[in-house]
Parts: sequence; C-alpha cells; structure tokens
Amino acid sequence: MPELPEVEVVRRGLERWVAHRTVADVEVLHPRAVRRHIAGADDFAHRLKGHHIGTPSRRGKYLWLPLEETNQSVLAHLGMSGQLLVQPHEAPDEKHLRIRVRFADGQGTELRFVDQRTFGGLSLHDNTPEGLPDVIAHIARDPLDPLFDDEAFHQALRRKRTTIKRALLDQSLISGVGNIYADEALWRARVHYERPTANFTRPRTAELLGHVRDVMNAALSVGGTSFDSLYVNVNGESGYFDRSLDAYGREGLPCKRCGTPMRRRPWMNRSSYFCPTCQRAPRVSS
Ligand SMILES: [Zn+2]
Repeated sequence: MPELPEVEVVRRGLERWVAHRTVADVEVLHPRAVRRHIAGADDFAHRLKGHHIGTPSRRGKYLWLPLEETNQSVLAHLGMSGQLLVQPHEAPDEKHLRIRVRFADGQGTELRFVDQRTFGGLSLHDNTPEGLPDVIAHIARDPLDPLFDDEAFHQALRRKRTTIKRALLDQSLISGVGNIYADEALWRARVHYERPTANFTRPRTAELLGHVRDVMNAALSVGGTSFDSLYVNVNGESGYFDRSLDAYGREGLPCKRCGTPMRRRPWMNRSSYFCPTCQRAPRVSS
C-alpha cells in the first residue's frame, strides 16, 4: 500500500499535469476499475465528459479530483498496485491499463489508471459541504493538514482504551499513518507499540506527533526531488521512494541508536518492528 507521502507526490504531479484541463472522453477498459461507480462505466464516462478538473486534493491516503461546475469528485482508490500515469498519447498501452482519460487540449498527454491486481479504481461521488467526497467524510484529518487538531487528538488518546499503534492507524482519529511510518515514528519517540494511550501526557503526544510529521516530511522531500518529469506514479510494492528506514524491515539488525538487535513481532496481520531496549514493552497489568 502506498503511504501518505507517496500519495502526496502523486497529488502534486496531478496538480501540475492534469489540473484545469477539460475532459474530452473517458475509456474504461476493465469494468472492475469502476465497480464502485454503481451506475456503470458508460455513466461514469458520460459524467466526466466536458468538465474541468479542479485542484487535486488529498486527505490521508485518499486522493480525489474535483470536477469543476459540479459538486462532485472523482475518488482514486489505489489499492495495492494502482498507478496514475500521465503519458503521451503515443506511448503504448500498459499491460494493465484500466481507464484512459483524454483531454480537450493540445498538450499531447492523457491520464491513465493502471492496476495489475484490480483492487483499485476510480469512482464519482457527491461532495460534502467541506468539499470531501461523501464516502470519506468520516476520515480524520492527517497530521500534515494545517487544520489537524493536536489537542483533540491528545484528548482522544486519553479517552480511548487502546494502544498507541492501534490509535495511530485508526483513520477516525488520525489519517494517513500506515504501518511503516507508525513503526518509524514510534522508534524515534522511543515508545513501544503496545503502550496504552490512556496515560499519555500532553508532551508525550506532542513529541510523537512531531516524529510522525518528521518521518513523513523526510519521505516527501526525497520523493519530491525525483519528480520533475512527465510521470505520475504510485506503487507501494516497488517502493517508489528510496526510503531510509530506521525501524521498519530491520529485524535482527542493530538499532541505529543503541545497537541492540531490532525485533519483529506479528501485529494485527502485519508486523511491528522495534528496539527492545529503546522501546520498553509495557508491564502487563495484573
Ligand atoms: Zn535501541
């Protein structure tokens, strides 16, 4: 799965190459890619035709293209392997090309949705008054959003009977933090992933949020520099960013802070990577 920084880089690419262009026509090459659009492929294509794409927007890992002149947006579900590519018309079709959007201008490029495993897709939705596609209205703001409320997040941690990594991955509390960046931020903050949140102090919450933002901004600055080409791409599996990771994936390697071999533990069908010295497990309450 792509993480927030990857999705933000795609958003920036779309803003540069697709925003304010007019849709000439839409070609759906595989019906599964529009299965979330209940009225079907023809209806999807018809509703986009003739509209201007507004400024691409993002919340957490969700990305959407507002359609100007309407109160609707095209939501992109990237799934495991979805990619949005801006390609010259003459570029050969990708093997797993699912949707093609042509524009009514002379720029010579088109938008392609490519998805090997067809878990992803595009769908059209009404916007909430806030301008969010209605199906993601319940998704909390992400930590890079200037309107993210640190104090409200802290109060939610205090209220919830949960543990910190669960809270970081809870999209109704904070969006866009995936498994990788949760492990990275917890390692930086020296907090064990099973630490209960109920007794988090305000400074501890603030420090952790600071680390979450730091790891995301560091990834953004790497991805942002390699992106000055006619190409928009996201593919979490191939590791679009050359990530420099301190915790995730480092089982058995020395902790970069204290040298203790890093550990991996199964966690909610995933893994948690941590340093057993820097990130002490909480005592089991009796
Ligand atoms: Zn350590």
